[in-house]
Amino acid sequence: MQWTDLPGDNPVLSLADTLRTEPFTAAHRILSLLEEDTLIVFPDNVRAAILEHISTSWVEMGGLLLGRVTTGIGVTADGGRTMLLEITGCVPSIGATGTRTYLTMDTAVWNAAREALHPDEVIIGWFHSHPNLGAFFSGTDLRTQRAFFANDYSIGFVMDWVRHEEAWFLGPMARQIPPERIARHIRFNDTAPGEPDVAPPPLTAQ
Ligand SMILES: [Zn+2]
Repeated sequence: MQWTDLPGDNPVLSLADTLRTEPFTAAHRILSLLEEDTLIVFPDNVRAAILEHISTSWVEMGGLLLGRVTTGIGVTADGGRTMLLEITGCVPSIGATGTRTYLTMDTAVWNAAREALHPDEVIIGWFHSHPNLGAFFSGTDLRTQRAFFANDYSIGFVMDWVRHEEAWFLGPMARQIPPERIARHIRFNDTAPGEPDVAPPPLTAQ
């Protein structure tokens, strides 16, 4: 049972590239959101895939998150740059060893995640379940975040599928991201006029 480190190459996209094909109103809305704080885009299909994996067992289950990182234009409360973090997929840790309250993941999940990455994607974080324990970061979770998910963009996602709670943490210090900064989708590449569709999450954290 051992964690290995993140891959060395971490492509971070520029905002100009990410927004290049967006209609003006959508780009403007995304820019103003990113002036305030980091935005995490968490699509329903990834949520469903995570839920399907973790709700098969009452022990802690987990895996890795894949996604795209775009540097934003604002400054966060802790002095970093804001980011647009788009989660694009997840890789469940099938061979993980879990107990009711403790989870370890081995090298197989890292290898599977690296193989699943597209060129513009990174291993953007990790997820795990807290069945009926509440969604929070334990001391072990904090240490895991610092040791293996220490990039500014590294997401730690905890879901309690029994109580319908979830919580989001970011970066080596595991700053908690409030639910209003989690969007179900941003409708990219939509040439129709009007406001971009930045949808709130279906669940309320905490
Ligand atoms: Zn935990």
